[in-house]
This record gives sequence, structure tokens and C-alpha cells, in this order.
Amino acid sequence: MKQHNFSAGPSILSPYTIKKTAEGILDLDKSGLSIMEISHRSKEFMAIMDETRQLFVELLDIPSGYSVLFLQGGASLQFCMVPYNLLKKKAAYLDTGSWANKALKEAKLFGEVDTVASSKEANYSYIPRDYSIPRDVDYFHITTNNTIYGTEIKEDMDSPVHLVADMSSDIFSRPVDVSKYALIYGGAQKNLAPAGVTFVIVKDEVLGHVERAIPTMLDYRIHIDKESMFNTPPVVAIYAAMHTLHWYREQGGVSAMHKLNLDKAAVLYDEIERNPIFTSNIANADDRSIMNVTFVMKEEYKEKEADFLAFATAQGMSGIKGHRSVGGFRASIYNAMPKSSVEALIGAMRDFQKKL
Ligand SMILES: *Cc1c(COP(=O)(O)O)cnc(C)c1O
Repeated sequence: MKQHNFSAGPSILSPYTIKKTAEGILDLDKSGLSIMEISHRSKEFMAIMDETRQLFVELLDIPSGYSVLFLQGGASLQFCMVPYNLLKKKAAYLDTGSWANKALKEAKLFGEVDTVASSKEANYSYIPRDYSIPRDVDYFHITTNNTIYGTEIKEDMDSPVHLVADMSSDIFSRPVDVSKYALIYGGAQKNLAPAGVTFVIVKDEVLGHVERAIPTMLDYRIHIDKESMFNTPPVVAIYAAMHTLHWYREQGGVSAMHKLNLDKAAVLYDEIERNPIFTSNIANADDRSIMNVTFVMKEEYKEKEADFLAFATAQGMSGIKGHRSVGGFRASIYNAMPKSSVEALIGAMRDFQKKL
């Protein structure tokens, strides 16, 4: 049966990405060799790396003065690399979810951390707005999309200090004004490629101001210098990312993806509001993510959650079980998810309600 892949991560990739990557794994551009078995310093792979970097610049309109890096270690290693390279004395963090919280915990190993606001007491069900960004910090760190809780900061904020963002689960979902950020990072496995590559977009001039010695592999300047080739990069994941970015470009770029994402999210949130058995766990509609749509059953239907999960799964809805810290359901509707899959989920929600 057709599967509609709502997995939060690793997650859906475009059929184009999967097909082209599979072809390159079998035979890279009729070379008789696999992408997996050629040197990362071959001219074939160097061209793939360059093109992927160039597509980042083009699709996100990255201004000059920024470098694009492809590293390993996941977004989780960036929780440590960011303070290692940027934190002199004190940094500010916005605590909007488990990932944000993990990032700020790591920063505490390197200096003072000012948690400017947190929605933890409400199980991260909203984006705090009642705070001001301190000026006496080296940077302000935000998590733009809270993958687990289904909240999102959808606009690029103005910050009086360097702004650093974890965009693991919403990169390429909307146009971003990169010039407002000192550094943007994310794991690839939510909206770009299979797991294994981590992208970093960093403004060159923010580096080189800390006094501590930085281990080579954790020093952004080394990776800039070596064009992400200090050691062997994750070649297959980068190759897959290149195809995804080609596909985004063909779809009309990031603004076209954004339009489609807004539309997919709107129809699903409308159904959650309309359907008497479901409700959103995010009260403020402005905070609701367009990438990870979380919802629960109304109190009086709570005992039906397992039934709905089984019902929807039998209809081909894969990966909609909510994260254990929220419960209920989570439909991750990343760029590669067609509207028809969202409509199939809505159909299952309606059919389930009718048969109750
Ligand atoms: C998935 C995710 C992470 C963790 O990424 P890894 O690549 O597994 O380290 C961090 N931040 C956010 C927002 C995520 O969605």
C-alpha cells in the first residue's frame, strides 16, 4: 500500500533525490564507479561538493562574507562547536524545546548562559515573546523550529548581538534573510538529505575572537580553509543533498516551497480545528509550525488515541505517533511531502470521526 511518510527525522525525501542518489550509488554518471567508492578528492566529487555549496548560496541567497560548510556530528555537535568558537564570556539562549535546552546545557561548559526566556513550564507549548535580547552577550541562540513540540519562529528577528540559529527542521522551508544571522546550522536529515551531513552557514568575521585553543576538527576556520575537506566528508549524504537542492530549484526555489508548506499546514490545522475529536496542543496559532504539526485528541476522546493511530497506520499513514514528551500525534510535513499526502491524512481523520 502507498505509504505517506510523516516521520519527523530521518524523514521524507523527494522521489527525485532517492532515485538520483540510488543511480549514483550504482554508477556515478556512467563512470563505472559508485559515488561510495571514489576519492573525495577526485574531480568528480569536488564538482559535487562545489555545486552543493553553490546551490546553498543560490537558494538561500547567502550574501558574500559567509561560508557554507558540510560537517559531521549532527546538529548535536554544533551545540558544542558554537560556544567553542563564539562564546567568550556569556551567551543568551531562548529555551523553546528539548533541542534548545540541550544546546544551552552544552554552552554552560564554556561560559555563562543567560536563558532569556523559557516555555518549559508549559511543556514548550508556545514561543516566548516577552523578553529582550541582552546586549552584553557574545551571541543569542534560537531554535527556529521545535521539531518535537510543533512550534516555530517563522520570521527572522532583529538582534543587537550575533544571532545563531538551529534550523535543523525548517531550513529551505521558507526564505531566510541570512544577513541577520551570524551562524545557521542543522542536521540534514529533516529537509535535505539522509543523516550524516550537517550544514553550517557562518559569517566569517564572527570567528577568531575567542582565546581558548580549539581542537582542529571543532574549529570552523579550519573547515572554511579546507573547504569542508579537512577530513573525508560524508560523500553520499552531500551527493543526496545536491539532488534535493536541484529539485527545490526546479520546484521554484524556497519561496515556492514556502507557499506549498503554508498551504499544506493550513489545510491540516483547519481540519484539527474543525474535527470535534482533535485539538491543537499549541494555543497560539502564530506559534504553530508549518513543518511539524502536533495535535492531540480532546480530553473526552483521549482513550481513542491508540485506535486512531492503528486506523491511520492501516491506511498508510506512517510515522504519525507523537513524541513521547507531547503524546498524541505529529505529522511532519517537510518540503518533499506532497499536498495529496496531507489530504490523505485529513481523510483518515474524517473517516475515523465518522465511524466513532
Ligand atoms: C533533529 C534535531 C536536532 C538533532 O540533530 P542531530 O543531527 O541528530 O544531532 C537538533 N535540533 C533540532 C531542531 C532538530 O530537529
